Amino acid sequence: MNNAQIADILDAIASLLELKGEERFKVVAYQRAARAIALHPKEMVLALKEGDDLRAIPGIGKSIAEKIEELVRSGRLEYFEELKAQFPPGVTELLHIPGVGPKTALKLVQELGVTSLEELEAAVADGRVAGLPGLGAKSAENIERRLRELRAKERRIPLGAALPIAEELLAGLRQVPGVRQASAAGSLRRFRETVGDIDLMGTADDPPAAIAAFVALPQVKAALAQGPTKATVLVHSGLQVDLRLVEHQDFGSLLQHFTGSKEHNVALREWARRRGYSVSEYGIAEIASGRVHHFQREEEVYRFLGLQFIPPEIREARGEIELAARGALPRLVEADDIRGDLHAHTDWTDGQDSLEAMVRAARERGYAYLAITDHSVGRGITNGLSVERLREQRKLLQSVEQQVGGIRVFHGTEVDIRADGTLDYPDEVLAELDVVVASLHSALQQPAERMTERVLRALANPHVDVFGHPSARLLGERPPVELDWEAVFHQASRTGVALEINASPGRLDLKDVHVSRARELGCRFLVNTDAHAARHFAAIRYGVGVARRAWCESQHILNSRPLAEFEDFLYHRQVVSGL
Ligand SMILES: [Zn+2]
Ligand SMILES: [Zn+2]
Repeated sequence: MNNAQIADILDAIASLLELKGEERFKVVAYQRAARAIALHPKEMVLALKEGDDLRAIPGIGKSIAEKIEELVRSGRLEYFEELKAQFPPGVTELLHIPGVGPKTALKLVQELGVTSLEELEAAVADGRVAGLPGLGAKSAENIERRLRELRAKERRIPLGAALPIAEELLAGLRQVPGVRQASAAGSLRRFRETVGDIDLMGTADDPPAAIAAFVALPQVKAALAQGPTKATVLVHSGLQVDLRLVEHQDFGSLLQHFTGSKEHNVALREWARRRGYSVSEYGIAEIASGRVHHFQREEEVYRFLGLQFIPPEIREARGEIELAARGALPRLVEADDIRGDLHAHTDWTDGQDSLEAMVRAARERGYAYLAITDHSVGRGITNGLSVERLREQRKLLQSVEQQVGGIRVFHGTEVDIRADGTLDYPDEVLAELDVVVASLHSALQQPAERMTERVLRALANPHVDVFGHPSARLLGERPPVELDWEAVFHQASRTGVALEINASPGRLDLKDVHVSRARELGCRFLVNTDAHAARHFAAIRYGVGVARRAWCESQHILNSRPLAEFEDFLYHRQVVSGL
């Protein structure tokens, strides 16, 4: 049982307790615990195996810790089963729909016999929900909207598809006379790997005119809804975008509110309330006097509460508020800190651009170093390099490095990790290279135990510098491999092999929670684009976003280090063989 499943059960318990009319604090305790487990970077299975005390996790008390233990050990929880048995079957199913509270769920089951999402959709569509006494048309409409949102959520858009569109629209919006502020909000601004929809916010001297100009932007295919301060549009790629215009004086509070996360905002409100303030999207009110303070800029919201500015990427209620109060937030790595890319392909294998074009593009970005890492010979489909071609490439690389000047060009490879954990070039060939990125490309279905052995064996090779796109997932297309991440992270931390945060928007691999855990265990990272064309270097920001969500500072990201320090990692890393 994984953390997400445990969290779901805790959430269901909270709802059933509410239905039973239990005291509020009890309900809230389970909701908080669910959230804490969902966000916890370490799987409970492992935590228990290693003898961790679950009560050390904020939000987990003795009784809930025992329940989690029972769930993990036996796969079921007697308490939950007994609770469920007190209600008609199907109620817990409906509780997963946001906006359907426990009472409504019970009513739907008892009076309409609805026990699944599909049945609920049908009951909304044929008017049975609207006809229920105590519910009515308004509730039915609300439920319909929630169902639609839920379906949309299942079709989440990769960040890499959403962000460029949002930026184009924002650029268009900023050209409109009288528009003073414009920003993305929501999960997009927090750099979540996928987003449900695109939320934009702004302020304008003449909101209706700005809305009219917005819906007329060339990217907009159709306006789905349009009011004096709001619009919902469909862009040509089929994405839905919401724009909301607000008063200048409230922009800071609104942006803060709509950036979320919901959990961060709950924690922030609670923190403020204990100090006598009430925070909302309309400003901060002094509870005693009722006086309301308005904020044009988001920074001012945090400053007013005595907090450091909290970067959107870490607004997840994971202790950031307490740290901000002490002025102790990490200084998160930034895209501008990146000084080189260590994973790039050329037209010698499956890349689109020449080696020289890649080097020039990296130089133009201001990089101090770049590694060319074409595929190894076993990659038949990508025209992998034979040893002879690899050596030939090295000669070209050296002459290009001289010609272009001002950038150190490392010769590397992205060597295949074969199914048995051996590498696709002999050691003496790997020894000639500056950078060895070892990656999984085939036999990705191996069971966890075998896959783990395979990876540990590969990473124990002293020539390996980097574990490339470690989970081998393709967002929305291919699931991650099954791997004992703890074992891999422990070994990487011990041997000094860097873990790649692959910034390619279709991968984003490692993902944020894994980076976070690996960082705790002392691993270091490279944020690489895996560029297959010069234009791909620009994707570095997506990987930096992942690193930031995992609280990484510049010291954790090796390719944010100056060349000399980076070469220390490459050539003088203390190699401790794992085998
Ligand atoms: Zn690869
Ligand atoms: Zn690659």
